[in-house]
Amino acid sequence: MDNNYLAELLFPNVKTTEEELEKRFPQRDLVEGAVVTRMAPSPTGFVHLGNLVQGITSERLAHQSGGVLFLRVEDTDKKREVEGAVEVLIETLKHYNIHFDEGATIDGDSGFYGPYRQSMRADIYHVYAKRLVREGKAYPCFCTEEELENIHAEQEKLKENFGYFGKWAVWRDRPIEDIEKELAQGKPWVLRFRSEGSIEHKIKFTDYIKGNLELTENDIDHVLLKSDGIPTYHFAHVVDDHLMRTTHVVRGDEWLSTLPFHLQLFAALGWKPPKYLHIGPLMKMDGTSKRKLSKRKDPELALTFYKQEGYPTKAVYEYILTILNSNFEDWRRANPTLPADEFKFSYKKMNPAGSLFDSAKLNDVSKNVISRMSADEVYNLSTEWAKEYDPDLYEKMTSDPDYTKKIFAIGRGGKNPRKDIAVWSEVKDYIDLFFDGYFRIQDEYPDKFPKEDIKKALSEFIETFDIKDDSGVWFDKIKDIADMLGYASDMRAYKLSPDSYKGNVADISMFIRIAISGKANSPDMYSVMQILGYDRVVLRIRNMIKSL
Ligand code: GLU
Repeated sequence: MDNNYLAELLFPNVKTTEEELEKRFPQRDLVEGAVVTRMAPSPTGFVHLGNLVQGITSERLAHQSGGVLFLRVEDTDKKREVEGAVEVLIETLKHYNIHFDEGATIDGDSGFYGPYRQSMRADIYHVYAKRLVREGKAYPCFCTEEELENIHAEQEKLKENFGYFGKWAVWRDRPIEDIEKELAQGKPWVLRFRSEGSIEHKIKFTDYIKGNLELTENDIDHVLLKSDGIPTYHFAHVVDDHLMRTTHVVRGDEWLSTLPFHLQLFAALGWKPPKYLHIGPLMKMDGTSKRKLSKRKDPELALTFYKQEGYPTKAVYEYILTILNSNFEDWRRANPTLPADEFKFSYKKMNPAGSLFDSAKLNDVSKNVISRMSADEVYNLSTEWAKEYDPDLYEKMTSDPDYTKKIFAIGRGGKNPRKDIAVWSEVKDYIDLFFDGYFRIQDEYPDKFPKEDIKKALSEFIETFDIKDDSGVWFDKIKDIADMLGYASDMRAYKLSPDSYKGNVADISMFIRIAISGKANSPDMYSVMQILGYDRVVLRIRNMIKSL
């Protein structure tokens, strides 16, 4: 077979040379040890936690080492693509503060190694496709869908391995006349790789996350170019990561099974493969066993879930660091106020089998993250959430921003800040008592306390209540009420002899708390009253007395 002849026949218009491409995409001039990596998602409209795990890992490795992170849109599968998905993808990653140095953006591409959308790189892939044909390493295959299905059925019947290989690779060694005949009839064809591998052979390979692996060689003549001339993931990955000068490929471990083929392709093209980091899947406990998070069963896999619930992006980000690097949590405890990117992220700490997702832990991390925010930040982020998901709440919160910020300032800023809020959708429950339109009595007084005691305590409280009292004087007055009603004002005395009292000062506080906040649990009562103001405090207590 005259391979040069075949290459011209298949790719008559490809004139660009490899030298030209090597020059157009030169080696990057970076510091020693710099990691060049990428996110290469497919625009299917579904951006998930796995994308974020991959994004954060790549981002940290690149930027910690003085390297480059770029975004490449893998839009070679037109059947799976959803309209507007590229925009959704880019917006979502931006929302999570994954900062790209180059790549696809909403307004086109930025950077010297583009185009960064694979659908726009067909001419580049064809240069290498032509070369592989010229070297006898690739050939056209004219099998129809039906013929391929028949091969599959036959293999099933004979209990053979599936795939296009060996005697099943019916176009592998066909005479040129057959090829010319099909081409002359305008029959569609795909370009296949001529594999020289055998499943009898193993290859040794070191993955940066999975460690030392022994994989079976690839013997399948996989498709490189589909019939529309667009490459498969495999071919595009090899060509793009070579030309874009990627040093590390971080991707899901579902690609491990085709890695031997990727390595074969790098070798066939005479290129050095990048380092690989194959990330295990996100797992979840289901009863007592672990399973992979699934798109169908687990809403928390989709990133839209976190936005709707109102998890701050920072919280999701820190949660992912927590599950990826087991030492992050200790670091965070020791450095509560440092920005998360000062943590030294390491792929060595990643679990080869994948990380366990746990929403209780996520909420915990989120509470911590929110507790460290300033009142202004909480105000800005929660109103941004409310604007989209609870317009009525948004109206109330923004009608007097200073008032709302004072609420968020309660118990904030000290060494042990309050941790009441895990997600912005909980803000309403937290602040409702401060807004007359939302305020309502939600908890009841425990039956064991006589109504008369409650009424007396409440009346006494408003008798002496002075909004100008400092918190010490204010609390002394509550203690006085306790003494007056036969409730212990001194907790130590109470603990020594609880039967000598009807209750204690905490019960008196609770009587007041429920009247004012409607709840048995609320932020610091003194601060709450300062924000509500004298008139509202007195009115709420009077209303409660009337209702008892
Ligand atoms: N487009 C592939 C995916 O979404 C990218 C894998 C890779 O990063 O190479 O799974």
